[in-house]
Amino acid sequence: MNSFDVVVVGAGPSGAMAAYEAAAGNLSVCILEKKVLPRYKTCGGGLVYRGKRKLPFEISEAVSKTYNDLAVYFDHSPISFTTSRDKPIISMVMRDTFDHLLVNKAKERGVVVMEDSCVLEIESKGEILLKTSNGNISTRFLIAADGAYSPTAKLFGWKETRKLIPALEYEIIVSEADFNRLSNEVRFDVDAIPYGYGWCFPKENHLSVGVGCFKHNNISLKEYYRKYLKTLGINEILREEAHGFQIPISPRTDGFYRNGAFLIGDAAGFADPLTAEGISNAIYSGQMAGRAIAQHPQDPYKAGGQYEQLLNEDLLHELKISGFLSKIFYENPRLRNLLVDRYGQRGCEILTDIFMGDRKFPKDIRKKLKEKIPFLPF
Ligand SMILES: Cc1cc2nc3c(=O)[nH]c(=O)nc-3n(C[C@H](O)[C@H](O)[C@H](O)COP(=O)(O)OP(=O)(O)OC[C@H]3O[C@@H](n4cnc5c(N)ncnc54)[C@H](O)[C@@H]3O)c2cc1C
Repeated sequence: MNSFDVVVVGAGPSGAMAAYEAAAGNLSVCILEKKVLPRYKTCGGGLVYRGKRKLPFEISEAVSKTYNDLAVYFDHSPISFTTSRDKPIISMVMRDTFDHLLVNKAKERGVVVMEDSCVLEIESKGEILLKTSNGNISTRFLIAADGAYSPTAKLFGWKETRKLIPALEYEIIVSEADFNRLSNEVRFDVDAIPYGYGWCFPKENHLSVGVGCFKHNNISLKEYYRKYLKTLGINEILREEAHGFQIPISPRTDGFYRNGAFLIGDAAGFADPLTAEGISNAIYSGQMAGRAIAQHPQDPYKAGGQYEQLLNEDLLHELKISGFLSKIFYENPRLRNLLVDRYGQRGCEILTDIFMGDRKFPKDIRKKLKEKIPFLPF
């Protein structure tokens, strides 16, 4: 039977970066991935600067385009908001290439990558034993980086306490004229779908267009995607590939560590509740878990404590504020539109600063909003 100090399940950005950091501590580290790499991942592939700047190496070979501007459109108003920065706010990546690059960086540090290896069962009696489609593996540290469905978290006994929202993404090839017109900007269209937004992200030769709904209900995403194409002025599609998936936009409420097992990225529920941007927090949480393990290689309990403490100091607080804003933004459109009419440009600048990693979500946002609009219902 194979044995490693650390086993990471999942070769997405969270898993790759957790393995990369854990390997710095002279530990034997393995990534188990159920697919063959590089693998497609349903995602808009918009990597915001706050995620990019966390990476300790160059990723330009995996970036197809960069945008120093972004545009936000609202249905209720003819005004759109544009923000600009002197560094790329969003870098466009295809996730197969991007994730593979991160995994290769971990490999360079000695991490063993077992592809085509799906975790099927887990036993935890002192050591952790994993039964996979590719044989059994034992480990002291297990990191669940296996995304929104996280079978590892389920097998380890975590209950489902995250809020998962549906999103539909299409990779489409359009006419040259449409591509040239739409590849000038990265755009978000709030109200392209009730309780959500649509996005149009230009890649090298095609567009990633999608819709996400922040309230789990029976909305037909496909119908709103078709409507959104009209908003974008796309009448002809030359090729289209549809991908639907879930995004967990609230953290688990029953902890992120137990008995040698750590939850990171989507498995933990760390995508941002306001934007559903998940790559940055996947990278960050992976780094935090990997570093905690590298610092306490003999003591899973201490490593787990350190990981949860780091999350409490920063990320969980951020997600809480973002969750509060998300509720106003998507579930109270009248109030949201009032705020947009008064402070739209300012709000977009703040969000862009957050995307850049230059600012956190304002801690006293509730109080500030109440000062500006006294009749707010909270
Ligand atoms: C439609 C859509 C659009 C999105 N757009 C954006 C965007 O533009 N920007 C952004 O920042 N975020 C976006 N997100 C969110 C982002 O994709 C995720 O937050 C991010 O991928 C989380 O990374 P992760 O490493 O936690 O998990 P993942 O990237 O999901 O990786 C999990 C890995 O685990 C593997 N795995 C699963 N089960 C097993 C198993 N049993 N055994 C072994 N391996 C297993 C999977 O094959 C996968 O490789 C989007 C999400 C969706 C659904």
